[in-house]
Amino acid sequence: MAKVVLNQVSKRFSDSVAAVSELNLEVADREFLVLVGPSGCGKTTTLRMIAGLEEVSNGQITIGDRDVTHVSPKDRDIAMVFQNYALYPHMTVRRNMSFGLRLRYGGNLVSRMWRRWQNSESAAKREEQFQQIPAKVDQVADTLGIGKLLDRYPRELSGGERQRVALGRAIVREPAAFLFDEPLSNLDAKLRVEMRRELKELHRRLGATMIYVTHDQVEAMTLGDRIAVMDKGVLQQVGPPSEVYHKPANRFVASFLGTPGMNLLEGELVQENGRFQFRGCGIQLELAASQCPELEPSGSRKVTLGVRPEDILLTEDASAEWLAAGQGQVELIESLGDVGFVHIRLPADEANGAVSPRITAKAGVNVALDRSILGLQDRPASIAFR
Ligand code: ATP
Repeated sequence: MAKVVLNQVSKRFSDSVAAVSELNLEVADREFLVLVGPSGCGKTTTLRMIAGLEEVSNGQITIGDRDVTHVSPKDRDIAMVFQNYALYPHMTVRRNMSFGLRLRYGGNLVSRMWRRWQNSESAAKREEQFQQIPAKVDQVADTLGIGKLLDRYPRELSGGERQRVALGRAIVREPAAFLFDEPLSNLDAKLRVEMRRELKELHRRLGATMIYVTHDQVEAMTLGDRIAVMDKGVLQQVGPPSEVYHKPANRFVASFLGTPGMNLLEGELVQENGRFQFRGCGIQLELAASQCPELEPSGSRKVTLGVRPEDILLTEDASAEWLAAGQGQVELIESLGDVGFVHIRLPADEANGAVSPRITAKAGVNVALDRSILGLQDRPASIAFR
């Protein structure tokens, strides 16, 4: 397995389309890195450049110790799994899975005869690897639970089975790195959850370097050792999922991750007599010093207060502490069964909250922002901690 490094990599399709700009990214050996971002942000282009299916306009890509920037895809020692599976329709599952290895170790009958005639050590080794292909395919197929499907054609398989075959085809090649381009997006919701779990388990078992493209936040948060968030061809932040979620580097990351995204409230941070207060959107919130950026004694500065929807608490009990924290009023509640989304009107802004569906808040009820869960900075993004 291998480390994958992108150094100042850019891709321009034309003067007006910069799909990826000066991307620096290091994917560690055996790491599961998820590239996530909205449609058109450059995820697929990045993956295709790593695979060699797209030429880079600038920059350098290394896999392991090898500079592969201008190496052809078949010589990069990577395997890619596509959203549409890309199986050969006229080949059985067995043939689909063995095809890449047969090309690598076998070749056509003439080249195999030639190798036998050569009688060299390397030719003998290749022949031995060629002979081992059927056993390898059987073993991987068994691991993925598709052992009984080996003689079927892709048209005789369900979407989930096709996806397993595509995975199997990648695994038998034992590549230095796996690249996945939204591999689960054609599956129904239940199967997606199942395959997600299997992929995670597979990663653990194979100990392989994996780079996975998705626009699905749940996949990103659950699969990635780290996630890399992109927007408009530019890397915004890379880090472990919980760090990116709780400490977004900027406004884009704060509002892209989470459903709904982080509430960003504009206001002023005031320090008076050693106490910190956020004033903005018609609310006043007392904050702990540890939640606030450095201020001159008795100073103030403009800040953005970031509040995760799940950190907004609902109450009809206007107790003293909660009153001091700040208030809004519930405008609308949507229940999704497992979670309730509340739309909250603040005196001079609005916010989204996510609450347990057991809370039977009604429109018109007062809400409190609990000060113990708030944090803020004067950088473009700010953070909420529970
Ligand atoms: P999605 O989630 O919708 O697949 P993405 O993040 O993978 O999007 P890319 O497919 O990498 O985005 O595209 C990045 C940008 O490059 C987009 O603006 C897209 O229109 C443009 N682009 C991609 N391929 C080409 C191409 N072959 N020619 C011209 N422009 C392209």
